Amino acid sequence: KRIGYALVGLGNLTLQQLLPGFAECNYSKPVALVSGDAAKAKKVAAQYGIDPKNIYNYQNYDEIRNNPEIDAVYIVLPNSMHKEFTIRAAKAGKHVLCEKPMANSSAEAQEMIDACKKAGKKLMIAYRIQYEPHNRLAMKWTREKRFGKVKLIDSVNVQNSGPYGQWRLNKKLAGGGSLPDIGLYCSNTNRFLTGEEPHTVLASIFSTPGDERFKEVEETVMFQLFFPSGTVANNVCSYGVHDAKHYRCYADNGGWFGLDPAFSYEGLKMEASQVQDGMEVKMEPSNGGSNQFALEIDHFSTCIMDDKVPFTPGEEGLQDHKVLEAIYESAKTGKPVKLERIDKLDAFR
Ligand code: NAD
Repeated sequence: KRIGYALVGLGNLTLQQLLPGFAECNYSKPVALVSGDAAKAKKVAAQYGIDPKNIYNYQNYDEIRNNPEIDAVYIVLPNSMHKEFTIRAAKAGKHVLCEKPMANSSAEAQEMIDACKKAGKKLMIAYRIQYEPHNRLAMKWTREKRFGKVKLIDSVNVQNSGPYGQWRLNKKLAGGGSLPDIGLYCSNTNRFLTGEEPHTVLASIFSTPGDERFKEVEETVMFQLFFPSGTVANNVCSYGVHDAKHYRCYADNGGWFGLDPAFSYEGLKMEASQVQDGMEVKMEPSNGGSNQFALEIDHFSTCIMDDKVPFTPGEEGLQDHKVLEAIYESAKTGKPVKLERIDKLDAFR
């Protein structure tokens, strides 16, 4: 048995990563498409062997309720649309896998959680990094103190954003700039690695004056997260420079480890350095690569089959929005911002 998915939104991620990724899934298959472009949907359906009767648009989307082939939806729309399409899916009796960032605010994220709970449907946020084996090994080494306590995490996610006019540079559609789009990988991975929730955030924002891409959304955010056990994470995200996507975890007993690239779709590389007999010994742990999207989608499918809470449920996305909001607040006020103490999320990890 495979869980049947309706893919909602036929943009870059769906076409270039998710639909090809389903070919590597063991428990999941694409069975329906939801798109504003009927001709495109027909073409894509033919390419992936999806029955043309299972093509929907944004208006008749609610009719998925009458289609038993669809167990779950995968929402891959601009961020501002995640809330509406999640709530409509839950009301139609379908489980929801929703792309990151979960929404445009913690208030919206909470509404999505409430709607899925009310409908008795599962909600998972698509944090692919948390299902990727090298990142999972880094998480294990952090929590098991492989080289001692990780006291410092240094994390970078930067890229040169495309031309003005795309939805990611529109505040209403994207919710923000580099922070919710790619800075989120840093903050979410900080939290994933440590298994802790930050108690304090300190941040600053810079956008190049006169660069029209950053009229509405921010270019560069530097932010530090302070964790209860004493770990400090130093992060930077930017839309204004050439690509880099990496992190390193520095431990206090003769070693460090990290990934470079860490957040890319493929080609992830892990490296570690450990002092042995007075020498720095380098390691490159590798499993040869795996499809993160397939692992993430199959995780949700098995949670549906076995009636389990996903590893990255809606609450995980909600917590990230609270952290992002604290980062914006700190950058605005120039002061550290304290976060409410959260312990319950540990249950999911
Ligand atoms: P995209 O612009 O390539 O695709 C967006 C799709 O939404 C298009 O098919 C577009 O037609 C449709 N759409 C509907 N209403 C729209 C509107 N008002 N404005 C613009 N497009 C509209 O975007 P994408 O890169 O596929 O991103 C989609 C979602 O996936 C976002 O939430 C993004 O953050 C997320 N994403 C996640 C990853 C990841 O690695 N997990 C990578 C890329 C994108």
